[in-house]
Amino acid sequence: MKKILLFCSLFSAFHLFAQPSLTNVEVTLGTGNTMTITYDLAYPSNDLAKVTFRATERGGLIFGFDTSNATGDVGEGIASGMGRQIEWDYSAYAPIPDFRLMLVAELAPSVDIQALVEQVDSTRMSGDLTFLEGIRHRTAGAEHLQETKDFIELQFAEGGLEIAKQQFDFNGYQAENIIGRKIGTEEEGEVYIIDGHYDSVAGSPGADDNASGTAGMLEAMRILAPFGFKKTIRFIGFDLEEAGLVGSIEYVQNGIAQQENIAGVLNFEMIGYFTEVPNSQEVPLGFNLLFPAAQAKLEANQFRGDFVNVIGNGAASSLTDAYETAIENYVPQLNFISLEAPASWQTLTPDLGRSDHAPFWVAGVPALMLSDGANFRNPNYHGAGDTKDLVDFTFMHDVVQAAVATIAEVAGIQNAATWWTDTEFTTAVDEVAGCSFSISPNPAKDFLRLQWAGCQVGNFNIELLDINGRVIKNYLNRNGQNGQAQMVDVRGLEKGIYFIKVSDGEGQWARKVLVD
Ligand SMILES: [Zn+2]
Repeated sequence: MKKILLFCSLFSAFHLFAQPSLTNVEVTLGTGNTMTITYDLAYPSNDLAKVTFRATERGGLIFGFDTSNATGDVGEGIASGMGRQIEWDYSAYAPIPDFRLMLVAELAPSVDIQALVEQVDSTRMSGDLTFLEGIRHRTAGAEHLQETKDFIELQFAEGGLEIAKQQFDFNGYQAENIIGRKIGTEEEGEVYIIDGHYDSVAGSPGADDNASGTAGMLEAMRILAPFGFKKTIRFIGFDLEEAGLVGSIEYVQNGIAQQENIAGVLNFEMIGYFTEVPNSQEVPLGFNLLFPAAQAKLEANQFRGDFVNVIGNGAASSLTDAYETAIENYVPQLNFISLEAPASWQTLTPDLGRSDHAPFWVAGVPALMLSDGANFRNPNYHGAGDTKDLVDFTFMHDVVQAAVATIAEVAGIQNAATWWTDTEFTTAVDEVAGCSFSISPNPAKDFLRLQWAGCQVGNFNIELLDINGRVIKNYLNRNGQNGQAQMVDVRGLEKGIYFIKVSDGEGQWARKVLVD
């Protein structure tokens, strides 16, 4: 038995919600193509858990491998206890158990959403704003911009998210969207996004714009991350919004994985300015003609700036409904005005597209901007006076609460503990006659070279296999003497993951190679 090296994540959830916990997960390889996953399962109730075991290739986004042949403590009715075991024969995915594995332990009682939203903490967001306030601009505030990126990344790491940084050049500045992923447990290709841009303009400490949205995104992440979700949630800090939505355009055009469908976006764009002073809320020209119902609501409320704008595209109507329902059910004190942007918003109502939700709209993705209305309410917009002391944390708290409840509903929150990891060999599964092998280059474009040394005996066969274990090429009876090599032609192969496998009838050795 060889133990597999584990890294990545291990979560146990808040006990407040009587969630199960999965701890001490270990994966060991058995003889043949078998592995055993052992785990401790605990939960503070008498219900039995449903344990789901899933797999994909290492680093894979979608857990598409068939694990229905797994046996042992998997499926419905698993009692809490230590040393639970799942056995999996992965022959269908041999030659190499180089997997990403996921375990989900779920209890039937659903999560109390009211209790969930009550965890949203103004004090924590105020603390975030104390740190974030200050010029976050690539030239005028480069140092604080970098501190801000590091801060977001650290928060994501503490939430146990998988972190990716989408980096790209912008006039010599290395821009960076910071992306945290909470993997869905069932439909991980369906993705909800909560985002906020973290940059500011050059002349403003940007407390409302958009330290408030960044802090709101981070707070939503802290509340949601300990739970399981059927669908994936991505938390994103966008760079360079102030330079013309550069970060979000880059994400929509080049950052969305092919296997993912963005089911909905909540974009926090300035969620900190609130006032009950009459006539504090202005509207763009022509607003009364396009949105008579909203205009009437504003008039009845004497144009007070005491509500959140919920601004969606046509595709987002059900997401808007979900957000409104969340307000009604869990945050009834929060006033809101919802607007559906007309199809030709770019010419008719360009003000509605002035943030990172707009590139999603252009792509036809359901997206909402949640906003205090920017310069139509906040007199310090883009100015030196946009400071933390003018941010209303009760308002922010309410906006974030409704967002948390919305995502919990649409992404399918589960009373579950999730565990996932990538596995990697500490040593090869088996060996071939004492040989040590090396592959170069990897990734390979035209040819790759398999070299061996130290072999004690005889001949072996070399195979190139695809991700499903199909033999693409083979080279029979290669000589095991030292100093030998086999060139493998990979021209014309589809880009992707392959395996090189060597076997001599007694032992085998395999490694993953990338054809690029
Ligand atoms: Zn902004």
